[in-house]
Amino acid sequence: MAIPSHVKYLIIGAGIHGLSTAYHLAQQLKAQGKGDGKDILVVDKSGIAAGASGIACGVVRNNYFQPAMRELMAHSVSVWETDPEGYSYHPVGYMQISPESMHADVATIAQQQKDIGYESTFIEGEKESSDYMKTLFHDWQATGITSVLHEKRGGYANNTKAIYALATKAENEGVRILTGCTVTGFKSDSAGGAIQAVETDKGEIGCDQVVIGAGPWAKTVWDMLELPKTISIKGADGQMHSNIPMWIYWSLQEGTLGVDPELQKTNDGQFPPVIHVDSNEPLYSTYDGSLITDEMWGIYYKPDFHFGGIQGGAAPYAIDTDPDDVAVDPYGVDSPDFVVGEDFAHMWVSALAHCQKRFEGQFEHYKNEPSGGIGSFTPDSFPVFDVFRENCYLIADSNHGYKMLGVGKLVAEELCGQTSSLLEPFRFSRYEQGKLHPVSSSPFPWS
Ligand SMILES: Cc1cc2nc3c(=O)[nH]c(=O)nc-3n(C[C@H](O)[C@H](O)[C@H](O)COP(=O)(O)OP(=O)(O)OC[C@H]3O[C@@H](n4cnc5c(N)ncnc54)[C@H](O)[C@@H]3O)c2cc1C
Repeated sequence: MAIPSHVKYLIIGAGIHGLSTAYHLAQQLKAQGKGDGKDILVVDKSGIAAGASGIACGVVRNNYFQPAMRELMAHSVSVWETDPEGYSYHPVGYMQISPESMHADVATIAQQQKDIGYESTFIEGEKESSDYMKTLFHDWQATGITSVLHEKRGGYANNTKAIYALATKAENEGVRILTGCTVTGFKSDSAGGAIQAVETDKGEIGCDQVVIGAGPWAKTVWDMLELPKTISIKGADGQMHSNIPMWIYWSLQEGTLGVDPELQKTNDGQFPPVIHVDSNEPLYSTYDGSLITDEMWGIYYKPDFHFGGIQGGAAPYAIDTDPDDVAVDPYGVDSPDFVVGEDFAHMWVSALAHCQKRFEGQFEHYKNEPSGGIGSFTPDSFPVFDVFRENCYLIADSNHGYKMLGVGKLVAEELCGQTSSLLEPFRFSRYEQGKLHPVSSSPFPWS
């Protein structure tokens, strides 16, 4: 495709956010008689699903301690439900299985799910939790679990299939997707002013509105926009804390046990909900019986034909290198620095065996292939959805975002003049104003 000299809407990134925005914006423009998909160009330096969206586990859940996140996720789940087949979305549900240290937090989530009409069952008590899990899996054996939140909606989608489907939906609306085109800078006629053109390695493209869905490259684009490297945050103590780095990277730990996915069926022969277990119990190796950790740990897993086995992950770790020095490229499984190693495999498979007897002695089936990838996180690990430089809409999901299919729809509505109350709690100004989201007791930075 020849590059156009000017477009109304230029979207950077052909991942879940860029493509969802493109598709829904095309529909919005048409519905309002303001244009159509031909007004929209998506550019990607690599290809469709080349970033985090193409390697994500694909879990779609509501389970968040923060009310604003829960409401936003409920909206996104309803968008996944509009076309489960098209999006390769499996609405099997999701379970948060927790120790006593998380009981009160999860009870709050269960109550608030009731308040917003999001269907879930909440089980409390050690024996009750164990009995409930055994009605699903006869071989359930995790100890120290005192609550189970069973979300009846949500589940997972097959990562690249959903993104390709979204690209097709957008193209069917007339959206153009230009791959192999890297954005290298922005042009405006005043310092810090509105963007008039986007500079790329294929030439300059004038535009009225920019949308950024750059995932793990959010910091790179942020720097190109000459936005601040550090920010001030008003903490819960009422004090202003300055010089907080705007971005840090975390490394996501995921892998696949290469057994038949049918191994993980429920007692009545169905495919189960996505399982997420957090635990304070000592974790012992299923390989040699050694102690792996006596600190809090957490895992998630699901049978997945797309990955060819039982796929899942464990808590990520913060990358302590200066964010300016972290190599985001080559990304994902091609990265020499950020793919999971033997320690993850050992821990994760042992944790599977801790939970279900059927995984005991299965360590040898772990797929020894590169997996995992890094994510770009904001200072509070929650998204920033906001406009910068007057006409630059940044969708920086802080790595929460495969499940957030609905965010592009809400962004499209905002671009067409309708402010979204679901996106409001995620404005950049919350840091300075101290309007921060509550913090949970989960070991994961995204709960
Ligand atoms: C291993 C892993 C597992 C995950 N699992 C889950 C999960 O189970 N559930 C969940 O909800 N979330 C999950 N996430 C998080 C989720 O994948 C991301 O939050 C989400 O995919 C980000 O989408 P995006 O569209 O913003 O970015 P991406 O999908 O990363 O897309 C960004 C695109 O921008 C392009 N780009 C970047 N810079 C430029 C440039 N200068 N010029 C042109 N193009 C550019 C890239 O090539 C890329 O294709 C996971 C993340 C990882 C890494």
